[in-house]
Amino acid sequence: MAGCCKGNPKATPPVPPTPKEEPCPHTPWCVNCKGDHPAFSSHCKYWDHRFDREWIMEEYRKTNGGGHPQRN
Ligand SMILES: [Zn+2]
Ligand SMILES: [Zn+2]
Repeated sequence: MAGCCKGNPKATPPVPPTPKEEPCPHTPWCVNCKGDHPAFSSHCKYWDHRFDREWIMEEYRKTNGGGHPQRN
């Protein structure tokens, strides 16, 4: 099950978990390129360049208008 489907009973209003037989209704969102796929998706252009730190820094500047990528 996707992390977004676990629900959050502490949220206001509470977010119910998605029944596991149902597909994920949430729109995935990539924190790297702001694309409509999960950040770990192999569709992400960042994925292709995940070992190319300079490319990532350059692309991150273009996407985010400056600043530095967050370290995980
Ligand atoms: Zn979901
Ligand atoms: Zn992406």
